[in-house]
This record gives sequence, C-alpha cells and structure tokens, in this order.
Amino acid sequence: KDVMQANTRATQDRPVRLLVFGRQGAGKGTQAVRLAERYGVPHISTGDMLRAAVKEGTEFGLQAKAIMDAGQLVSDEVMLGIISERLAEPDAATGWLLDGFPRTEQQAKDLVELMGSDGIDLALDLVVPEEVVIDRITGRRVCSSCQTTYSTGRDESATTGVCAKCGGEVVQRDDDTEEAVRKRLAIYATQTLPAVRWFGEQGLLVTIDGVGDPDEIAVLLAEAIDARIS
Ligand code: AMP
Repeated sequence: KDVMQANTRATQDRPVRLLVFGRQGAGKGTQAVRLAERYGVPHISTGDMLRAAVKEGTEFGLQAKAIMDAGQLVSDEVMLGIISERLAEPDAATGWLLDGFPRTEQQAKDLVELMGSDGIDLALDLVVPEEVVIDRITGRRVCSSCQTTYSTGRDESATTGVCAKCGGEVVQRDDDTEEAVRKRLAIYATQTLPAVRWFGEQGLLVTIDGVGDPDEIAVLLAEAIDARIS
C-alpha cells in the first residue's frame, strides 16, 4: 500500500507542524525532505541554515563553523533568534517541518513558548543504534549546492562526486569525521535526548524504528502523522 501517494488530502486541511528527532545518521534529513514534500510545508533545517551562513563567510558564519566542526552546539540564544526569524517568514504561516531544532530542552521550551502549547502537532523520533549510525555517517556525502545526501555504499553520486539531481559538487561534510561524529553522538545523548523525553512527557512524541528500507520508514512516519492530524 502506498500511503505516501494515496493519502494527500489530510495535508490540505490545516497547517501541520512537525519536529523530527534522531541522532546524526538516523536518516532524519532524508525523511524530513520527503515528509515536508508530502505535507506541503517548508523543510526547515537549522543545520542547512547554519551551513549557508558558513558559505556566505559572514562573521557569524565563521563562528558557527568552528562550533560545528568541533561537533558542538550553537548557543540556545542564537538558535532561538534564527528560528524565530525563519518561522516568521510567510511560507511558514501554513505549517513547517523542523529538522535539527530543537536540539536541547531549553530550545524545546523556547519553541513551545514561541508557538503556544498547541502549536506543535507531533514530534517524530527516528531511532537507530550507534554502530549503524557511525557506519552511515562516515559514508555520507552531500551536494554542496542542493544539499541532497548520498551514501558511498548505495549511490553513484557519492563516489563520482557529481550530484545526480543538480550536477553540483558532492562532498563530505567537515563535521562528518569520526572524531566529530563521536562527539556529536555524546552531545545528542546528554543535550538532545532530554528534549526528546520532554516531548514524550507532553504526549507529543512518536518513536519510529529508523533501521531498514527508507521507503518503508517513510510510510511508518506518514501513518503516525496522519493518525495524529486526521
Ligand atoms: P545538522 O545538520 O542538523 O546535523 O547540524 C549540524 C551542526 O549545526 C550541529 O552539529 C550543530 O553544531 C549545529 N546545529 C544545528 N542545529 C542546531 C541547533 N538547533 N542548536 C545548536 N546547534 C545546532
């Protein structure tokens, strides 16, 4: 059954506001892009926004790059500023999907304060064991133009270095080295898991097994969302 195509009606009824959690390499970015398309909402990735700032070479971008390359988190104050501005843009008025935000319990509470207590429909947590994500991340490559991600074991673009979608250059992220990855996994456990648990306590969390065929995982995610918003 193809839920991704069959059920598009639910998306038009009202704005849908979604959060996607999952540690680095859980498939969060890939699934976030698909879900945003399915529900017709902007895919807002704070990691992509920060990488765009790095590319522009602003003073802020330089500071952000140092933090990101070290596998650490940009401060909650700065992130709240970035996300408030982004959510105030017209395309975000009819809903959104946040990927990479909130990353701490403080950010979670900031977001709820910003949006109101019924301002979030559902938080999805993609769960993948640590050994699996380390393998995935060290094989991950990303298009420096359109941000499409590829995997060395699976996609030709990862080995040729040419994006199949836009022809852009496919590279390894500076923060996808094994050392930075281990650091980020540790930070996820200490900083982000409390935020995930917090959404659980609010009754807003659905946990999805992130190991397996991406298409099947996409269906499980869509079913969880449809069950919530219909
Ligand atoms: P991502 O693409 O989501 O893995 O983000 C890449 C990096 O950007 C992270 O390792 C952090 O350094 C930074 N970053 C992204 N989102 C946030 C956030 N909500 N709070 C703090 N730092 C963030």
